[in-house]
Amino acid sequence: MTQPLPLLETRTLGRWTVHAIQAGGQQLDGGAMFGVVPKPLWERRIPADARNRIPMGMRCLLVEHDAGLVLVDSGAGNKETQKFYEIYGIENAGAGGRTALEDGVRAAGHDPADVFLVINSHLHFDHAGGNTFRDAGGEVRLAFPNARYVVQAGEYRYAMHTNERTAASYFPHNYEPVLAAARLDLVEGEREVLPGVRLIPTPGHTPHHQSILLTSDGESAFFAADLIPTHAHLPLPWIMGYDVEPLVTLETKRRMLARAAAEGWLVVFEHDAHVAWGHVAHDGKSYGLLAPAAP
Ligand SMILES: [Zn+2]
Repeated sequence: MTQPLPLLETRTLGRWTVHAIQAGGQQLDGGAMFGVVPKPLWERRIPADARNRIPMGMRCLLVEHDAGLVLVDSGAGNKETQKFYEIYGIENAGAGGRTALEDGVRAAGHDPADVFLVINSHLHFDHAGGNTFRDAGGEVRLAFPNARYVVQAGEYRYAMHTNERTAASYFPHNYEPVLAAARLDLVEGEREVLPGVRLIPTPGHTPHHQSILLTSDGESAFFAADLIPTHAHLPLPWIMGYDVEPLVTLETKRRMLARAAAEGWLVVFEHDAHVAWGHVAHDGKSYGLLAPAAP
């Protein structure tokens, strides 16, 4: 396996330039990714390998906002053991011991030190693992040393009080150093953190999971995160087995996809190995991607 490509996909959103950065590949069990959906249905959309795993990405979004660079999610970082990365099929190695995320930031013409704001959809290791990095001396440091970081306060509490089911996803070295450095802003509920950058609680995957709605000059993009991890998860009941509250996910999807279709949002798919984003529509039976407009 190699890391999914391309590393960088760039487009405009209103007056901003936005970059989808493929921060690495991941291989997860197809059954777990599709919950109660039977394999004969899901494997038509994403075929599985001999170990029943499907290829996935870990896409982050870098927004050239007027106020500064905004990064949404940070991939899986470089701090875990080789064995850990093998279990999850994570391939995200980048230049200089860092990750594909930093490579992507540079390919977009920027430097990690230029990032102004990091937004975490939630604190699972494949979304917040790149908040910090382990340097050559073994020390854990902030990957974006000049940024503020923001996450829902409830998600932080949830991450700090794990149980037997949730503990495998939450590693304090991904967020405790950010709090200790007084760089972490904990917000409660819906919030516009910068003009046109709105955090919207989208519970289900975790109780305080959030998505990010970006709006510039009347154009909107919706970073769904684990609410709709790939384009194959657009149909309402196609919900991951990982979700702690799948029936809450169902109602959140129903509400947000109705808005996405009605308001013409570009939906960003964080875990899709191939499709970075697309517009969505309901065809009378279920939600799906609208065919891309001819160039
Ligand atoms: Zn995820």
